[in-house]
Amino acid sequence: MRLESIQLEHFRNYAGQRVDFDPVCNVICGENAQGKTNLLEAMVCLSTGKSHRTRSDRELVRFGEAGFRLAGSIHTRGRDFLSQLEAGFGRKKHMAVNKVPAKSASELSAVLNTVFFCPEDLQLIREGPAARRRFMDASLCQLRPGYAAALSEYQRLHEHKTRILRDCDERPDLIATLPDFNLRMAETGAVLIHYRARFAAVLAKYAAAAHSECSGGRERLEVRYQTVKTVADPLADQKLLVLQLLEHQRTHHYAEVSSRQCLSGPHKDDLEVELDGLNARSFASQGQTRTAALSLKLAAREIHKEIIGEYPILLLDDVLSELDPRRQEYVLNRLGSGQVFITCCEEDRLHALLKGRVYRVSGGVVTGG
Ligand code: ATP
Ligand code: MG
Repeated sequence: MRLESIQLEHFRNYAGQRVDFDPVCNVICGENAQGKTNLLEAMVCLSTGKSHRTRSDRELVRFGEAGFRLAGSIHTRGRDFLSQLEAGFGRKKHMAVNKVPAKSASELSAVLNTVFFCPEDLQLIREGPAARRRFMDASLCQLRPGYAAALSEYQRLHEHKTRILRDCDERPDLIATLPDFNLRMAETGAVLIHYRARFAAVLAKYAAAAHSECSGGRERLEVRYQTVKTVADPLADQKLLVLQLLEHQRTHHYAEVSSRQCLSGPHKDDLEVELDGLNARSFASQGQTRTAALSLKLAAREIHKEIIGEYPILLLDDVLSELDPRRQEYVLNRLGSGQVFITCCEEDRLHALLKGRVYRVSGGVVTGG
């Protein structure tokens, strides 16, 4: 899969711009606030129908204009596609693939898949379990419709059970409804664990390989899926998982009622990340944190490739800073096949670039390539 060219009209700080890309590596350089991230954001919009930075399409419209248009020429599955997105102009958002209106953003995703990495993704390593669950959920929802359905059902049940626990002091009769919620949460929870355990096992393999290569074989990254304590083997049959989840709920019943919180279930899952046997969250250096977070994203890209048969395009916003020359060389040249876009501020880093094209962005105008 590759993005051959993109056209932006009144998008962020771009007035009107067309850029043709290299099939392998594209490096986008420029000073701060010139439009590097905006260009990657346009690619994300063409892939998901929305920005990763804002929910409001209005913010994406160049100041003083009425709307924006994006178009991308994409080559995938041996064919050429034209994806278009238009918002503002006093009309409903419009998306199209090969000039045929798209009903939902998933029609755009079917043509262009992206894996995006930006400095905020360091929270994958630095922050608590919620950031890593979001990462698992986002990847699995894109790839497995069955997972997306189970996740939204589980979240609905979880919210409802939390309300019951909160209100059961005033209304003790609500306690009687808990067994029914518990059973349904155990059943949908088992589906989540089933998918997450398999995803984490493959992710662990690819992330370890990426991290080892990026660090020149000097560091060992381990990723382990952590779920409800009573689940002895998360890869086990779902029927067994249901029984083990029910057992955990049973032993936590009083704690849940007295704390008025839902304490039992996979909404507390985590991916434990260790570097050379030490917890990465507590002990990793800045460069190690960046390498480990990047390795998780690269692993997600490999999983996409396994499932959809082609690499998604990889967007790396500002990853080179804080990496030593060896790690930079890996990012610039050795990510294997698949198309990559990398933004950076300092051009002198690029002596490590062996193949690909360099673009310069200044005040919303792209040159070079
Ligand atoms: P950095 O190196 O600091 O990350 P960058 O090149 O990635 O910089 P961008 O995030 O792409 O910078 O933003 C460039 C500029 O775009 C910002 O100065 C911002 O004010 C401007 N900008 C953002 N939204 C709009 C908009 N809707 N209309 C016009 N300009 C905008
Ligand atoms: Mg930026």
